[in-house]
Amino acid sequence: MKRNKKFRFAQLLEILFVYLLLFAVVLSVGRNVLYGSSSSSVSILGESDFSGEVTPEKAGTLVVWEDDGTGREGRNEMRAILSQMRIPWTEQKAKKFTAADLKGIDTVVLSVTDLSRLGRNLNSLLNWVMEGHSLLFLYPPFNEGTFLSIAPQLGITGVENALATVEGLHFVKDIMPGSERDLSITDPYQSSLEVTLDDSCEVFLEAAGVSQTPLIWRRPVGKGVVVFDNMGFLEKAYRGFHCAAYSLLEDSCIWPVINGSTWYIDDFPSPVPEGDSQFIQHEFGMDIRDFYTHHWWKDVYNLAKKYNIRYTGLVIEDYSAQVDGVFPRNKDIQRFQYFGNMLLREGGELGFHGYNHMPLVPENFDYLGMYDSYRQWVSVDAMRDSLTELDGFCHELFPDEEFHVYVPPSNIISEEGRKLLAEDFPEIRAIASLYLPDDNDVSYSQDFTVTEDGMVQTPRIISGYVLDDYMRTAAMSELYFHCVNTHFQHPDDCLDTDRGAALGWTELFRRLTDYAEWLHSALPQMRNLTGSELTGAVQRYDALQVRREDTARGIHLSLGGFCDEAWFYLRINEGRPGRISGGSISDAADGLYLVKANSPELEIEITR
Ligand SMILES: [Zn+2]
Repeated sequence: MKRNKKFRFAQLLEILFVYLLLFAVVLSVGRNVLYGSSSSSVSILGESDFSGEVTPEKAGTLVVWEDDGTGREGRNEMRAILSQMRIPWTEQKAKKFTAADLKGIDTVVLSVTDLSRLGRNLNSLLNWVMEGHSLLFLYPPFNEGTFLSIAPQLGITGVENALATVEGLHFVKDIMPGSERDLSITDPYQSSLEVTLDDSCEVFLEAAGVSQTPLIWRRPVGKGVVVFDNMGFLEKAYRGFHCAAYSLLEDSCIWPVINGSTWYIDDFPSPVPEGDSQFIQHEFGMDIRDFYTHHWWKDVYNLAKKYNIRYTGLVIEDYSAQVDGVFPRNKDIQRFQYFGNMLLREGGELGFHGYNHMPLVPENFDYLGMYDSYRQWVSVDAMRDSLTELDGFCHELFPDEEFHVYVPPSNIISEEGRKLLAEDFPEIRAIASLYLPDDNDVSYSQDFTVTEDGMVQTPRIISGYVLDDYMRTAAMSELYFHCVNTHFQHPDDCLDTDRGAALGWTELFRRLTDYAEWLHSALPQMRNLTGSELTGAVQRYDALQVRREDTARGIHLSLGGFCDEAWFYLRINEGRPGRISGGSISDAADGLYLVKANSPELEIEITR
């Protein structure tokens, strides 16, 4: 009897134990579901997490550049493109170039405006191509005697005297993800040679509309290949197109990419934004506060559900102009909790934008006459105090969250502000400002990289709801160059006439949806990442060293600075991918593949 009792007690204990275990599992699962960011799929790493070193192969690409405005621009673009593609290259000035420079080289890129500068060496270069090498014309050179003398070898049967004004881009072949749609050129100018081509040319990109001016074509020349990039737009928003032209040169081309799509909502959560409410009143008959809850957030939230977007919201505690003194805690927290928790529940994440919307700049900072309403901070201490208050506010409201991403208000930040974040706020690991530089502006533009202070740069490429053709061009360019999408929106974008308010929210949201749909259909397998996951992805991309060897069966990559995974685009111009070891592969566009490496040694078979 006594024994039996003991047994039953043990049984009870066991049941209790199982029950407790289940409870713990439910709790932890619930936690992950509720707060996606705490179970981040791409973690932020420390420096020591990356290991191994490889020396890149010897430079096989030579950039020949002319020392004039366009030639230098072309050289600068190629420096950015080739270094980020991890393609080893050397450079030579056009007037110094001789056939001796071609020793050990497979590919030449010409950033030359006046081909006569090359003299007789131009013929040596073409003979070298015929022997089985490749040549890229990065932009259209002058239409003069020397150019005309070699034009037939480039497949050109006729050239108009006047340059063509290209008003849109049409892909004849879908070599880039998302290239099924035509793009319009904002502010077109006489940019491209108006040429007719012979049948041996393979045209990939041409002008949209009736002119059909060829913009990127390839032609066999003897045993070699010439690619002609006739676009003429040498700026950051077009890097992906020049990267595409370069990748068409040899039998195959492989380069590391980020593989991530991140959507930011600046000033969110924040107090109700101010702005021109007339359009909202007219369209919905309600005030700004109600519009945000019943229309804006509902739509933006459902869009995320549909496309698996995981927003990164950037908190503003108070819209004050305070730049000194004690920063009072905002007690009006209902909006913060409501929106913040909803965003987190859907696998989103929160980061810092500011205590208020004053950019972190000291008193001597020059706003160049813009931003009249902005005030400079009286001291670095005042900046620090405001961020300390924001930090306390965020951790109080969302005690289970970590805050790794900082977005500078209005994309403006000073050296002092950067240093302050890096030194005094170690939880912040990334600064997400702008990708494309604005020539007339004081905004801070970045590349996808890690700076010396360890801060990860995760710039935003496009923004807002208008999503004009320039933004779409930049988005498509970066979808190729880095396999990345970064977009930011402000809740008050639909209150500002400069940002399209007059179009009305219904139209603005239609455009946002249309962009999300385009992106999703362009590359369905692209990863949806939060801001800190993108931070981890950029770390892995930035640390990567690549050594490529061509084997009898395909390509062998040895990777340095490897941690757990790396991503690549692979273009195969001759053949198709066969077996892969050390990773996996999927289709991305015509002849383009997205490759994941799980190991620092990757072998890709190419079958012909
Ligand atoms: Zn903002």
